Amino acid sequence: MYTDSQLFIDGEWRAGADGLVLPVVNPADGLRIGSVAKAERADLDRAADAAMRGFALWRDTPAHSRAETLRSAAVILRRDAEMSARLMSLEQGKPVAEALGEVLRGAEFIDWMAGEAQRAYGRVIPARGAGVLQLVTREPVGPVAAFTPWNFPINQAVRKIAGALAAGCSIIIKGPEETPASCAALVRAFEEAGTPAGVINLVFGTPAEISEYLIPHPAIRKVSFTGSTVVGKHLAALAGLHMKPVTMELGGHAPVIVCADADIPAAAQALAAFKTRTSGQSCISPTRLLIEAPVYGRFVDALLAAFEGVKMGDGGDPATTMGPMANPRRVDALEALVEDALAKGARLHIGGKRRGEAGNFFPPTVLAEAPVTSRIMNEEPFGPLLTVQPFETLESAITEANRLPYGLAAYVFTGSPAKARHLYSRIECGMLSVNHFGLGSAETPFGGVRDSGFGVEGGAEAIEPYLQTRFYTSLER
Ligand code: NAD
Repeated sequence: MYTDSQLFIDGEWRAGADGLVLPVVNPADGLRIGSVAKAERADLDRAADAAMRGFALWRDTPAHSRAETLRSAAVILRRDAEMSARLMSLEQGKPVAEALGEVLRGAEFIDWMAGEAQRAYGRVIPARGAGVLQLVTREPVGPVAAFTPWNFPINQAVRKIAGALAAGCSIIIKGPEETPASCAALVRAFEEAGTPAGVINLVFGTPAEISEYLIPHPAIRKVSFTGSTVVGKHLAALAGLHMKPVTMELGGHAPVIVCADADIPAAAQALAAFKTRTSGQSCISPTRLLIEAPVYGRFVDALLAAFEGVKMGDGGDPATTMGPMANPRRVDALEALVEDALAKGARLHIGGKRRGEAGNFFPPTVLAEAPVTSRIMNEEPFGPLLTVQPFETLESAITEANRLPYGLAAYVFTGSPAKARHLYSRIECGMLSVNHFGLGSAETPFGGVRDSGFGVEGGAEAIEPYLQTRFYTSLER
């Protein structure tokens, strides 16, 4: 049932100019399931021209009509959700139920942004002189170049597409080559909803070639990227050179502070479930667990027991609760992190090694006593790997939470609201979630600080990156 993916340029699905394709592989068995068209320069030029024409049309389309088109796309995405979820599970590995949740959240995002399209207000500034009118308007910034990864093929793309389209921008999205079909299904929903040709364009290819070409391209006025910090810094620098605003949703290394007054069994259960979502390949995945010393043993036992309940397998099997890693690179990277930590004196509680001959399976892995010099204490694992360590004072936990340059998500488990708010004021992060994993809804802001990037996706702020402020004044007699 897997479908090959093409480029979507100027309202048409088409092969790349040179007819080249890239393979798509099922991460559960390593077998090729299909292909994705590879864009060349000629395709990118065509997409840039289309995006300019699409922008000219879309920015003048009333916000109310744009919102209606978005809402239709959400209806279509929901209608086809089961099919999109199956495609995503086949190409990405995650369980179908999880993929379905992602598709439905994608529809929520579109609906939310449709509402924001109708709320992109300007304002009137009282003037100093009689008869003077002063207006501030919020206008679409222009054609957007967006780059989205393979961990949430729909969720990462929908934030950028819906944000740009709500604001009146057109977009060229470079989708994930490893998981193209579900991203293409999202774009099809916008196509069927009646989005005019050129407003939304989807390309795949060699990521570096596409970004190096599109970011400086005169047609492009805004850059949005989700991916690793190292690539994000490179793309932000390139955009800066060409004076283009950026949104950067980058990596994290989320600390979790578990206080002695927390509900320990509930915290352990929630952590194991959230850590294994998308096999830990999420920028907000909990990674460094800091546990107050008196409950350390009890919490670790409960966490290990909760991980025992994880059923790793093919995402198409309804019994599976955690799929394979999306690609073999992640398995190699996780094994290397574990080996490094063990060589430096860490202790392995569970997991640590790939499973099986076929597919990219890597089990939940818990490391204790990993020294601060080990790679896992400094690099984003992007997999079901976490560390546990005890803390004596809240101050030392805060210091450890803020030690790394990342600042995306952080988590706290405590029975004390006052303690939680104190931690909110002290931990350098874009988002803090207390006693649950409550991040990433359409109506709430999502984004990081420091090396985790800047700009927000989600919430009332999500339209901001796609708008620019203009001022109008007139002496009217
Ligand atoms: P990677 O750094 O090569 O790629 C990460 C993403 O960036 C991919 O989608 C890729 O297509 C894109 N990319 C890479 N180079 C690019 C370039 N020059 N121009 C435009 N796009 C580019 O590594 P990877 O093996 O795919 O993923 C590994 C790391 O990436 C992970 O450890 C994680 O830190 C990060 N990552 C983060 C997210 C996220 O949601 N923030 C998602 C996927 C990967």
